[in-house]
Amino acid sequence: MGVRTALEWLSSCSGCEIAILNIGEDLVALLTEHLDIVHAPVIMDHKYYGQCGDEGDHLEIPEAVIGIVTGGVSNEEHIEVLEEMRKKCKILIALGSCATQGGIPALMNGQNSAQSFAEIYQSPSTDEGSSLPDQGVPKLLDRTYALDERVKIDLMLPGCPPNPAHIAEVITALLENRDPELPTKSVCDSCPTKREGKGSVNTVKRYVENVEFDPNKPISEMRCLLEQGFMCMGPVTAAGCAKRGAPSCIEARVPCRGCFGSVLPKGNQMLDMMNALASNGIDFKSVVDRRSLLRFSGAHGNLRPKKKAAMKEDV
Ligand code: SF4
Ligand code: SF4
Ligand code: SF4
Repeated sequence: MGVRTALEWLSSCSGCEIAILNIGEDLVALLTEHLDIVHAPVIMDHKYYGQCGDEGDHLEIPEAVIGIVTGGVSNEEHIEVLEEMRKKCKILIALGSCATQGGIPALMNGQNSAQSFAEIYQSPSTDEGSSLPDQGVPKLLDRTYALDERVKIDLMLPGCPPNPAHIAEVITALLENRDPELPTKSVCDSCPTKREGKGSVNTVKRYVENVEFDPNKPISEMRCLLEQGFMCMGPVTAAGCAKRGAPSCIEARVPCRGCFGSVLPKGNQMLDMMNALASNGIDFKSVVDRRSLLRFSGAHGNLRPKKKAAMKEDV
């Protein structure tokens, strides 16, 4: 018998579950020798209210030692499922940037949730004139929450999606009863690009402009993209994506967009990035949509609807 493990997904795109599959061969050993998956709606049918779907009067998830939850908390059903996972799992892991810092679904936090609901179901681009669904649809919350805003979380593993090697490390460490070895610094910390200590321009360059690099030279010969004037969020983003000696996007000569969320779980990537830009001599007012810097970390109250007086401005 392996260690009983339960998986759940809330406001999630299932990319984190694909990251689990991407553990590859090691996953086969974990599943055949060490883990006993007792609940995983993404891969196996399990009724929350008994196998006929109507036997119980409250939502039930089997007991497990390890619980892994992906996605943020956006509606009342998510709260119910998450609280049941907390109750039934000894160790609860928040997997992926949606679970740890709100991720993409928390972009909605920049608007009023009722307006978003109407926009999704009744706008000209979706289904103008239709009625809002009201049967069997869980009530939307005021905003999307990271898991640790609603229940106690034992371990956070960010990334959109997270690094499969780190998922395997976390599971293996738990099985071996030790602390997992995970990166704790920023994306810049694992970036080999050349830094000269001062930016070359004082306004942010648009992504349509080309990054300067020589394809025949190693990445260590390319100048830091932030110093080139691109909005590279490496300084304010948690490390973890580097697989072949450089952060994934930097290796592709593309600026970091911040998908691992803030270095500190409750940090604010937008405010931190303003400081990083200033340190590089770049005017933060040249950033067209500053709130978009919270595209992966809008939970924890970071991203909120604009106040009317601030609507004309872009913050
Ligand atoms: S963190 Fe990214 S990959 Fe994971 S559920 Fe959220 S959007 Fe999908
Ligand atoms: S800002 Fe970007 S390019 Fe520069 S060191 Fe950090 S991750 Fe690398
Ligand atoms: S470089 Fe930045 S955006 Fe790209 S994968 Fe790494 S953390 Fe995500």
